[in-house]
Amino acid sequence: MTAQHKPSLSIIDTLEWNPESIKQANTMLEGSSPEAVLRWGFGNFAPSIVMGTGFGPEGIVLMHLVSQIRPETIVFYLDTDLLFSQTYELRDKLVKQLGIRFERVHSGISLKEQSVRHGDTLWANDADTCCHIRKVIPQRQFLANYNAWITGIRRDQTAFRANAGLVEWDYANKMVKLNPLAAWTSDQVWDHIRKNDLPYNELHDYGYPSIGCWTCTKAVVTGADPRSGRWAGLEKTECGIHYPSIAKQ
Ligand code: SF4
Repeated sequence: MTAQHKPSLSIIDTLEWNPESIKQANTMLEGSSPEAVLRWGFGNFAPSIVMGTGFGPEGIVLMHLVSQIRPETIVFYLDTDLLFSQTYELRDKLVKQLGIRFERVHSGISLKEQSVRHGDTLWANDADTCCHIRKVIPQRQFLANYNAWITGIRRDQTAFRANAGLVEWDYANKMVKLNPLAAWTSDQVWDHIRKNDLPYNELHDYGYPSIGCWTCTKAVVTGADPRSGRWAGLEKTECGIHYPSIAKQ
């Protein structure tokens, strides 16, 4: 079935979104461009839709598209208090260049409080609990106010992400999740960034293909798995905000 002959699936057709109707929507959207997925999402869920970012290259591409399609969209980020200074600098450049409306989401628990409760370096002793406290819980509380969120995950990033839909049901948050770049490659992402002269985290130029908290991110050698610098030495590959990787979900 060609794109133009696909049935339309809108809020008029489906008053209540659920895992089944979202599966149908994903089938309909498969093969669509990121812009088309975003337009579909905004058409059905705005204003109850937000974008989340960890400031990776995929997020930059999406922020660029979002700024053109629905500039008033709120883009939230999880401030763990442990982000690289270069990440905060990138945030400020994005405000300047693209006019992004950022919202900082924080656990409300300072690093000092965390060390009193769990020791000085929880990320080294129990990274799952650290991510749960500083990322998963605050994100869950924030997303409870919305019906849909947009993410930059791609299918070839990790085994967990291999089956990501362009749109899917987020069981953990009981809402709709859009992954407009799910089918894109890393090369497509970087082509878009260069072609549109978009800012990116300068650490990417120093061997950090994937960047999270400075405490859990290492540089990798050329040709290594781009995410191998995240939680290096642990089996952990996800912080838990996209796919439950920990028992505490
Ligand atoms: S990435 Fe590391 S420091 Fe950041 S929240 Fe997770 S375990 Fe804690």
